[in-house]
Amino acid sequence: MEIKFERFHLESGLRSPLKGFETISVPTEVRIDPLTKRRSRIITWSFPSKGKFDFSQMAEESKGCFFCPENVLLKTPQFLKEIVREGRICIGKAVGFPNLNPVGTYGSVVVLCHEHFLNLNQFTPEIYEEGLSVAIEIIRRTMDFDPDTRYWHISQNFLLPGGSTILHPHLQVIGDPVPTNEMEWLLNASSSYYQRNRTLYWNDLVEIEKGLGKRYITDIGRVHWFVAFAPIGFNEVCGNVEGHGSVSTLDKEEISSLAKGIVSTLKYFEDKDLNSFNFSIYSISGEASYQLLIRIISRTPIQPFYLNDWTSFEVLQSELTSNIIPEELCREIRSYFP
Ligand SMILES: [Zn+2]
Repeated sequence: MEIKFERFHLESGLRSPLKGFETISVPTEVRIDPLTKRRSRIITWSFPSKGKFDFSQMAEESKGCFFCPENVLLKTPQFLKEIVREGRICIGKAVGFPNLNPVGTYGSVVVLCHEHFLNLNQFTPEIYEEGLSVAIEIIRRTMDFDPDTRYWHISQNFLLPGGSTILHPHLQVIGDPVPTNEMEWLLNASSSYYQRNRTLYWNDLVEIEKGLGKRYITDIGRVHWFVAFAPIGFNEVCGNVEGHGSVSTLDKEEISSLAKGIVSTLKYFEDKDLNSFNFSIYSISGEASYQLLIRIISRTPIQPFYLNDWTSFEVLQSELTSNIIPEELCREIRSYFP
């Protein structure tokens, strides 16, 4: 196995006005992702929490949206008949339909629940079991219609900092015959790892992380949950699903394991006074060297004097920053998982 956890320890010296202009040293770590070799910068300081944001006014003013139960079956688009004869896919309270403003070949939305707004600790495993099941059914039916569409992501953008204009909880399901940048990086790196080692990177990583015990959270069924060594976002939690590259082959139990891990992570975010997040499930079919990955990250919460968390570092230097040490996050989040 050739998995290496490489890092640079950087130090910044200054005379601090907070300590009578004594000389202090502030560490920063640059970590290199063992698979993609992408660098991440781990900052060892953060601003204190401003407490919980009260969403009641925002939720009240925006309720009755297109995704609310009285509108969702009247005002949202329907699938082409060749793909979904009945127009939309409904499982439990989740409703899936095409996105009116797609950004690719196949773009869908899955409304997760009847509630117009949920705090992060109000999401339940059932909500995600139903939502992911709808997303996967959309993907299965679309792939039956167009088998060339091998690259899919099921993602959630929650609240404005996460890039969502609509408060009502929903997923994005996007499929194309070409991969996104991230999928291509994951795929190329996984495939060259496989060619060199004749083993699957993801299984080797899980084995090493389990042994080290510093970033491995737990397994739920066949989903292994861990904290990334070199995260590409704040509080990044990852899950890897043994035996699958695509979500289209997941069974009920595996969907439920993903749902439980998402909900556990959101409960931790809530306790940290966070309120906005993104996740993506990278689903790629027909690639033996790749294994299904989910990444969940928090975003800077909605708060008075909101601060965007993408600075020139992320946008123009392609160096992603994170403000919690991954091993510390793993220690803290473990008790939130079943
Ligand atoms: Zn709504």
